[in-house]
Amino acid sequence: MKVKAPVQQGKTYQVKIVNLTYQGLGVGIFHDFPIFINNALPGEKVLTRVIRVKRHFSFGKVLKFYKKSPDRVQLVDKKYLQTGIAPLEHLKYSAQLKFKHDQVAELFKKAGLKVQIKPTIGMKKPYQYRNKAQIPVKLIKGRLETGFYRRHSHYLVPITDFYIQDPKIDQTILVVRNVLRKYHIVPYNERTHRGVIRNVMVRRGRSSHQIMVGLVTRTKQLPHAPEITKAIHHKLPEVKSIIHNVNLRDNNVLLGRQNRLLYGKPYIDDQLMGLTFRISLNAFYQVNPVQTEKLYSVAIKEAQLKPNQIAIDAYCGIGTISLSIAKYVKRVYGVEIVPQAIRDAKVNAKLNHIDNVKFVANRAEDQMPLWVKHGIRPDVIFVDPPRKGLAASFIKSAASVKPKRIVYISCKPATLVRDVRRFNKLGYHVVQPVQPVDQFPQTVQIESVTVLERE
Ligand code: SAH
Repeated sequence: MKVKAPVQQGKTYQVKIVNLTYQGLGVGIFHDFPIFINNALPGEKVLTRVIRVKRHFSFGKVLKFYKKSPDRVQLVDKKYLQTGIAPLEHLKYSAQLKFKHDQVAELFKKAGLKVQIKPTIGMKKPYQYRNKAQIPVKLIKGRLETGFYRRHSHYLVPITDFYIQDPKIDQTILVVRNVLRKYHIVPYNERTHRGVIRNVMVRRGRSSHQIMVGLVTRTKQLPHAPEITKAIHHKLPEVKSIIHNVNLRDNNVLLGRQNRLLYGKPYIDDQLMGLTFRISLNAFYQVNPVQTEKLYSVAIKEAQLKPNQIAIDAYCGIGTISLSIAKYVKRVYGVEIVPQAIRDAKVNAKLNHIDNVKFVANRAEDQMPLWVKHGIRPDVIFVDPPRKGLAASFIKSAASVKPKRIVYISCKPATLVRDVRRFNKLGYHVVQPVQPVDQFPQTVQIESVTVLERE
């Protein structure tokens, strides 16, 4: 039987906001039917216009506030909400931290797990923190623009101040934009799969102040590459690396496989945890260095490392965790899927005169059983997987060698909870309160450290 939704597209409704979704949308209920509303907070009363109706829920936008939340702060710019650059910009920072804590707590509770969650560790200056940007380039009204996509669409909103990024990165993007305009580089068009420039990637070392610029094109050639290169590093002396990356695919994966060095070195350096790191274009590097040091410090402290121990750093990237823990243990083994990142990790070990760490390029779920086969018996395993979490097979082989502790750094609580349940079945339990650390202020992303121990 088909039940008709009690709301209609285009009509307006008065609702009270009862909740905030994990995506930061306010939940209004009309005759038991949810309306998800951007820029609406729990406790608020709003007049909403429904813009889209699905079977079990709908989306609306705010036309008028009847009652505002005490947790609301004035919008810096509504563009940041529209684009999802800062989907929590309307929520005061202390409430953002509580929201993240509550999200983690709720997911553990829903899974039937009794786990303590500590208050989220926040940031003093919760904006202008990102050390990396990946900015789409589009043609709008005949002009090359850089900005960000409107939520759930491919409509680009031109933006010059990105609010959560290092302002020097914003400045770099503008210089690059103007140079691309000057040389009439045609932006990529996803519909026709035509055009040249797809996006601009910028990374800046917080400590080193070195800037890397990646120009990602659909075509093998970047017209006027020498002139463009010269113009960029002339205007921006901090730029130490310019790379042309070719992404031939017609999907929305950001970086392609082919890199061509246009200027400087194929990497930049930065300092983190008192160590020096080389970072290539394709390698992962934590985007919020200030909070990363807090995150790693929590993970290292809770791991209770001892000088005679063997540690594994699965999903090690350029080796930031491996090299930070090397001095506390006998030996560290790191694994990572991206070959460039492992090349960086090996160089990073040398740069920091660390010789008790071994890195290998492989999938963690394939390497773990190999290590087991070769008789490596870790006492502690650090995992820091992408959002999809750990492969079930990784969990099995990790648990099979009976490490004392698993330190799980997670960037998605839903998969963390799923994986904790899998570990539970193999005799591992959460022993210390989970510690959320806010790596992504103004956004809904949630990072946390969880420690599991063997029974
Ligand atoms: N610990 C590092 C990197 C964490 S990000 C740091 O803090 O900087 C997660 C890393 O996992 C990325 O570098 C990504 O390339 C890598 N990765 C993704 N899937 C993987 C897999 N199946 N096996 C090993 N590494 C993987």
